Amino acid sequence: MSEVEKKLATLRQQINDYNYQYHVLDAPTVPDAEYDHVMQTLRQLEAEHPELVTVDSPTQRVGGEPLAGFTKVEHTVPMLSLANAFNEQDLRNFDRRVREGLAVDQVDYVCELKIDGLAVSLRYQDGQFQQGATRGDGSIGEDITHNLRTIRSIPLKIKEKQTIEVRGEAFMPKRSFLALNEARLEREEEPFANPRNAAAGSLRQLDPKIAAARNLDIYLYAVGKWEAGTLATHSERLTYLQELGFKINPEWRKCQDIDEVINYVNGWLNHRADLAYEIDGIVIKIDRIAYHDILKTTAKSPRWAIAFKFPAEEAVTTLIDVILSV
Ligand code: NAD
Repeated sequence: MSEVEKKLATLRQQINDYNYQYHVLDAPTVPDAEYDHVMQTLRQLEAEHPELVTVDSPTQRVGGEPLAGFTKVEHTVPMLSLANAFNEQDLRNFDRRVREGLAVDQVDYVCELKIDGLAVSLRYQDGQFQQGATRGDGSIGEDITHNLRTIRSIPLKIKEKQTIEVRGEAFMPKRSFLALNEARLEREEEPFANPRNAAAGSLRQLDPKIAAARNLDIYLYAVGKWEAGTLATHSERLTYLQELGFKINPEWRKCQDIDEVINYVNGWLNHRADLAYEIDGIVIKIDRIAYHDILKTTAKSPRWAIAFKFPAEEAVTTLIDVILSV
């Protein structure tokens, strides 16, 4: 094995370990920024040595394995991850790639808050909630219908008899997280590391009483399979999902160019702490659905969207410290 191959193997093993702790055990051992840094190093090294990229490299995979004990659900449309941007230049490069790929001068984007929770897919048959699943490895998730039914903002029946799959982020509001950890500490149980892991740990339980007691919430942000779907833009879809009775995050904005996107991102960089729930970035999506079909996806993420990742925030750690100190 060459030095580069050894380095690649070490980085892949490290990320596989982090992924297992985060996605399967819901108990990360390093902050997200550290994970992102190791992943960037691997990505960079693979870009320099494309002949050494393997199909099982973590750069080619989404999330983690479904947990044993849950019925597996095959996603009709894969639930992908998102490519990341860490600075303004990454966003400008994304915009350039998009416009070159489409051969157009101008593209409308939709910016949404990147809620730090757990991606779920909800299937409605003739307007009735039928099944809910985790993202899992992107192709196969876990059936967590029994737990999702305990989230009051998930309608059991929507306003039209649509057969539709909607996707969104289930999350634990900061207030619920603090109360939960306070109670856990009183019982001398280990507190959760952050609201994301608390939400994931609550939803991946076989007993729905646990999820029911945890005050979870959800924001829907996408449509999976929808045969009767005719709407031409993502923004129209968001509005329609809201009309059907789904909870949509109100902070989304349509932007006419990348400068507007950057303004939106910068605005939230300073105000994220004011929100009642945690966000770890901003998701930027091309508004026109026909453009999604042209740009398509890689094995791991769509080419028509990107996630701007905020720098690591210590606020939650501080909150835990506050709880621990009282
Ligand atoms: P991601 O978090 O970079 O982005 C994709 C996810 O964003 C989607 O699956 C969805 O759940 C979420 N999302 C939130 N709001 C959204 C919106 N409005 N529109 C679309 N999607 C939205 O990618 P990922 O594959 O879910 O996870 C990778 C990230 O998880 C890493 O960058 C890292 O921060 C973290 N992670 C950390 C560790 C660790 O050990 N600390 C391990 C693995 C992963």
